[in-house]
Amino acid sequence: MDFSKLKGHIYFQDKFIKSVDAKIHVLNHSLHFATSVFEGIAVYNKIPFLSEDHFKRLINSSKLLKLKFNLSIRRLEKISEILIRKNKIINGYIRPIIFRSSNSMSPETRDCYTIFAMASWEWGKLFKKRSISLDISKWPKLSNKEFPIEAKSSGSYQASVISKAELNRKKYDDCLMLDLKKNVAESTACNVFWVKNKKIFTPKTHSILNGITRQAVIEICRKKKIKVVEGDFKLDTIMGSDHVFLTGTAAELQLVNKIKSKKFSIESSILNELIFEFQNIKKLNLKNLKSISKS
Ligand code: PMP
Repeated sequence: MDFSKLKGHIYFQDKFIKSVDAKIHVLNHSLHFATSVFEGIAVYNKIPFLSEDHFKRLINSSKLLKLKFNLSIRRLEKISEILIRKNKIINGYIRPIIFRSSNSMSPETRDCYTIFAMASWEWGKLFKKRSISLDISKWPKLSNKEFPIEAKSSGSYQASVISKAELNRKKYDDCLMLDLKKNVAESTACNVFWVKNKKIFTPKTHSILNGITRQAVIEICRKKKIKVVEGDFKLDTIMGSDHVFLTGTAAELQLVNKIKSKKFSIESSILNELIFEFQNIKKLNLKNLKSISKS
């Protein structure tokens, strides 16, 4: 799909305009210096899912990238509601993005102003298969010591984009990325979890995007009294596990059947329970993670 030909409306610079008319110049600062921040929010049955948490992360990402931005969560929610209505989205995706104008072609940003846009489109799941296979990327995920990795920023996707471009598509669907100390980090656009002896393991957040879906799964486990261990884990830990799955807004809970040549079972009562609980939460279509504990 060519997104520059997206039908319907987009919120751009304080107003709703036709998507095809939302244009920026090639000498845009964020295009050259990779400093935009954005979000991906799922829409289920016309309602954005966990929108408050996504907009909170968007505002935090803008602060980390020193972008001046002052729209409130409430205002962002209102814009997304209008956009869904205008574009008649039933099950889809919302993409808000904050970036800099074209008033500088160097890292100096004093003369730049902030541009905000929000788009939406009908969309299904990221992977169209019940389970997927993973290669291991040679590109490391940087940590929060080198880079504001907790921001969902365009700059933090470079290793993911190169990894995906290098992937052998005949053999693998995606790849697992390690951090600078060769601990398991995440996939190109999802968080990773694995199961061993009915316990769930997932990397700590220093070298990953702390996914909203990741946090929801941890919350579900807490509610269901399933033990979750967050830590620094070498590759042999995940390779020796019973089951592996990814989480993300567009992937939801995605089963993994293979990493390199190591196969994993995708049949498990614990995975079924988590998927069932996640589907229930989707049906409730919550505004924020706090509601999961109450639901
Ligand atoms: N890690 C990366 C690198 C991602 O791009 C995403 C997708 N936003 C995730 C993790 C999962 O985050 P979320 O559950 O908030 O979509």
